[in-house]
Amino acid sequence: MFLDDVLEMLKKKSNQKAYTIGEKSYTYAEFYKYVANIYEFLLRENIGKKPVVIYGHKEVYMKACMIASSMAGMTYVPVDISIPEERIKSIIDQVKPKIIVGDLKNYNKNVSKNEIYDIMKNDNYNEINQIFMKQDDIYYIVFTSGSTGIPKGVKITYNNLDSCIKWLKELVQTKKQVILNQANFSFDLSVADLYLSLITESEHYIIDSEKLDYETTFNSLNKSNATIAVMTPSYADLLLLDKTFNQNLMPKLEKIIFCGEKLNNITAEKLYNRFDKLKIINTYGPTECTFAVTSYEVPRNVCNKIPVGTPKSDVEIYIVDDNLQKLSEEKIGEILITGKSVADGYLGNVVNNSFISYQGKNAYLTGDLGYIKNGLLYYIQRKDKQIKYKGYRIELSDVENNLIELKYIEKAVVVAKKDEEGKVISILAFVKTNEEIEKIKQDLKKKLPDYMIPRIKIVDKFPLNNNGKCDEKKLLEEF
Ligand code: AMP
Repeated sequence: MFLDDVLEMLKKKSNQKAYTIGEKSYTYAEFYKYVANIYEFLLRENIGKKPVVIYGHKEVYMKACMIASSMAGMTYVPVDISIPEERIKSIIDQVKPKIIVGDLKNYNKNVSKNEIYDIMKNDNYNEINQIFMKQDDIYYIVFTSGSTGIPKGVKITYNNLDSCIKWLKELVQTKKQVILNQANFSFDLSVADLYLSLITESEHYIIDSEKLDYETTFNSLNKSNATIAVMTPSYADLLLLDKTFNQNLMPKLEKIIFCGEKLNNITAEKLYNRFDKLKIINTYGPTECTFAVTSYEVPRNVCNKIPVGTPKSDVEIYIVDDNLQKLSEEKIGEILITGKSVADGYLGNVVNNSFISYQGKNAYLTGDLGYIKNGLLYYIQRKDKQIKYKGYRIELSDVENNLIELKYIEKAVVVAKKDEEGKVISILAFVKTNEEIEKIKQDLKKKLPDYMIPRIKIVDKFPLNNNGKCDEKKLLEEF
């Protein structure tokens, strides 16, 4: 299993860079020391191996804690600082961790950032001689937007992740690279760069994408010497807005692995025009199927509709109708995934559970519409009210339910405004209330991360369509 390979590599204690964030780089020797110290600490403190919550923003202790807890056989739950207090409380209530690492106040099981740094830096550490994680154990839990307004935790097993990492390694087929990170660690896109960097003995180069200040970002992109980048198409679109995002800025960039959203041909074309040696890989999959399950190398001569490609070898993909009957090639239906990537389900009882049994196998019904043509999978759009905004997965009903929970709101309807290509450009909330918009925003910010905060319009009446349902099209015209 891949942790054995990681441990073997870490034990070489090399002076190659393992992790770079801001001005600071850490070698593999240092990283191993951090992991070994935390591993010992966790085994001493977390008897019973309860989940470990890792709170913070991309700092090296987070990655070291992830690897240490995995080696110690403990599930980890990454929580980024962009998640507001109330949502964190909901996550912690569901996970019931014994240890929370990072500066999360008001929890008595907390090991602060300073404390963990003190533990990590002990030079007299013991070697790691045993990996406690078993194949069917839950390796990590990542929380995504839940339609009820409560985030839902996806349980990924060691088997799931092992299969994902071996597939990623095949996709890049190289070693000792510089791998660029965009996503924060509570978003499963980061799984690709977090682990690909380790398994290929590469430098993991962190970009602080939360604060997109062009000057700082472009300086770091330039300094990174990155050869591989993992990002969402939305992030690439942002970078492409600046003409200097090109080969002069990143002369060594060879591969971009995209995931999380539809990759438009215009984005791919622009990238190929600006980078001579670049290869673009479009990957597709939900968090519930461990980062991604299909891949497609986009040819330089970019076609209009970019497929999401072919499944990894231990996964099967079916297009099914509403009765789960398999549809033939070119017929549009829902994408259903079976095989080694399908997670162990959600934590606790989740309504609308899409983990099902299909032909006797564990399967995940994605809610994505697509079709297969010439053996390639194409994604069309969502069936439901789940959207991708700025690369983040959001259930519009999550925003709606959190609005309705505010006592002074009588009714709320949340819709996504899209451009001609179907890309979400803003989230709009129509609410009936006597309260001021500013107050609603402030209250909502306590419950939802910034990227989920909608533009708000107060309305008296909600227009109805012929079926007597709220006419979202008419509402959109009002903004
Ligand atoms: P997440 O769990 O955040 O990775 O979001 C999963 C959802 O993102 C999928 O169910 C799709 O709706 C969408 N998605 C992921 N990758 C792609 C892709 N390459 N093309 C189009 N949509 C994608």
